[in-house]
Amino acid sequence: MKRIFLDPGHGGSDPGAVGHGLKEKDVVLDIALQIRSILEKGYENVKIKMSRTTDSSKSLRQRTNEANAWGAHYYISIHCNAFNGKANGYEDFIYSGLNDASQSAKYRNFMHREIANGIALNNRGKKKANFHVLRETRMPAFLSENGFIDNHSDATLMKQATWRKKIAQGHANGIAKALQLKKKTNVNQKGDSLYKVIAGSFQSKKKAIDRVSFLKELGIDAFIETITLSGVKWYRVQSGAFSNRKNAEDQLKRIEKKGIDAFILH
Ligand SMILES: [Zn+2]
Repeated sequence: MKRIFLDPGHGGSDPGAVGHGLKEKDVVLDIALQIRSILEKGYENVKIKMSRTTDSSKSLRQRTNEANAWGAHYYISIHCNAFNGKANGYEDFIYSGLNDASQSAKYRNFMHREIANGIALNNRGKKKANFHVLRETRMPAFLSENGFIDNHSDATLMKQATWRKKIAQGHANGIAKALQLKKKTNVNQKGDSLYKVIAGSFQSKKKAIDRVSFLKELGIDAFIETITLSGVKWYRVQSGAFSNRKNAEDQLKRIEKKGIDAFILH
């Protein structure tokens, strides 16, 4: 189980940077909630904790204490920058006291590649800083500055839901690569879990093949999927995967009518 601590910066009485009608605290909360959702829906054995899930105040010390007490495997702090209205672009940070062979630096390489690609922001590079959340965390830590909120063209992007989603997807991809998270297999492209109809599970490959051909004779398509449960290899006969439970139940009935024991896996 990998424990990931997501820290949308600022919140409550602290808006963070502001500009062009946007507040940093709102932009980064939206991105962080989306990262959580992508990881929870798409990956196995992952636990997410967030420093805040609403517009609430929390000190930097509270944030790092929570992550340390929880024993997080990775700390991700999400921010937007501001400077003089002219500066623009994406950059990310690890603690200044770390060298490039550190775990934080290695993880950051994945994060940077995944986030900075294709987000239409100027890439300001990989940086180091002595920030509280990077210094006081006992696990690898990362902080992203996703554009300058006081820059006109960056702010225009921040206002787009599709752009914020891309930023979230980049973070999720980077985290998944850094921590080698395993993708859920029964997930469709929308990230929803599928209802699989299983028409038999066998330790004998021959029996599984026989079941598939028997179903074929009845006009029911099926295929074999091999899985390993507690070290034992199983040949599972799958006949359809549906995003809608009702459709899976209809398929189940069709198969059961032929005298075959089947069940729905979700
Ligand atoms: Zn900030």
